[in-house]
Amino acid sequence: MPSLTRPTRLRTHPPAATDGGAERPVRVSPVSRLLLAWYDREGRRLPWRSGTHHSPADPTDTMSGGPLCRQGGRRATPVSRTAKGPTASEAGFVADPYAILVSEIMLQQTQVDRVIPFYRRWLERFPGWTALAEAPPAEVIRQWSGLGYNRRALMLQGVARAVVRDGVPATEEGWRALKGIGPYTAAAVTLFSTGRRTVPVDTNIRRAGGRLLLGEPFPLPAGDDRLRPALQRLLAGAARPADLVQALFDLASLVCRKTPLCPGCPLRAACPAEPRFRSGGVAVPRRSVPRSNERRHAGKTHPDRIYRGRILRLAGEEEGIALRDLGPRIDPGFVPVRDNAWLKAMVDRLVDDGLLTNHRGRLSLPRTS
Ligand code: SF4
Repeated sequence: MPSLTRPTRLRTHPPAATDGGAERPVRVSPVSRLLLAWYDREGRRLPWRSGTHHSPADPTDTMSGGPLCRQGGRRATPVSRTAKGPTASEAGFVADPYAILVSEIMLQQTQVDRVIPFYRRWLERFPGWTALAEAPPAEVIRQWSGLGYNRRALMLQGVARAVVRDGVPATEEGWRALKGIGPYTAAAVTLFSTGRRTVPVDTNIRRAGGRLLLGEPFPLPAGDDRLRPALQRLLAGAARPADLVQALFDLASLVCRKTPLCPGCPLRAACPAEPRFRSGGVAVPRRSVPRSNERRHAGKTHPDRIYRGRILRLAGEEEGIALRDLGPRIDPGFVPVRDNAWLKAMVDRLVDDGLLTNHRGRLSLPRTS
């Protein structure tokens, strides 16, 4: 197990939102206590948990709750979170919904180590909602290029434009109303930026939470209806609900992996699944999530998304690159008579997705959208 011991306490997110005192920690469970103690010692130090990147130059940035705040999809009077307790910046915690959203979208289907340099560059280039909203789409795609699943870049810009126009959503439901924001992301951004006890459930939270709270060795999405209330109960007794969820992420990544490292686990004494793993009576399923159905052309080494990424990178480097020259440059094994239709179909999909323009066989990144 990697050791990331540090001398000071890792406390990166806002304390629980009290909503004027209506919502208070009621009980600290052994799981919560052990998990946070371990997280403070061993949790990963990730840039979206430190808040050191941020430039205050963008007037719509909302480091302390935001000048723009939206209630129920309606633009509301600007509010200050100080009315309900210390702002995140006063408390020294990360609570910038923009930075959190960027990290969450980048982390979709992408490993943490791979995301970190892209995240840092992105925040340098687009430090807040306005900078991203006003950027040329070509620049947005260029900055994302190499991270994959490039439609995420334009989706993020669409969210930034909605926020600049209507304000930062004040609720989980408000986030979900934005195009491209799913239930997990809405819950994660709400929790990590405000400390409200929303419950984001992804593969990692399902695995570690399902084992710790339900005793299920390999929890499936079909069991989320039982997992959510159990997570709600865990968070209800926590003074630091956002850190508790981050701790679950880290536990799932570092210890409670698909094949769990129970003998070295800090939660071993409190985990109802541990005896089942220790007894050896649990078979690790060959595959606990459905196999990806990525599009792949016959005979090609990679799925199409790799070649699509190469097309975008070349179009970003050479504006107006000729479609007829593209094949061998994205694939050394390109055979025109066999692969031209495949290449053209990929280009057409990129154009349909708004990621590319094709003007009489000359390809460029879009200048406007
Ligand atoms: S004891 Fe094993 S199953 Fe339980 S949380 Fe730790 S690693 Fe996961």
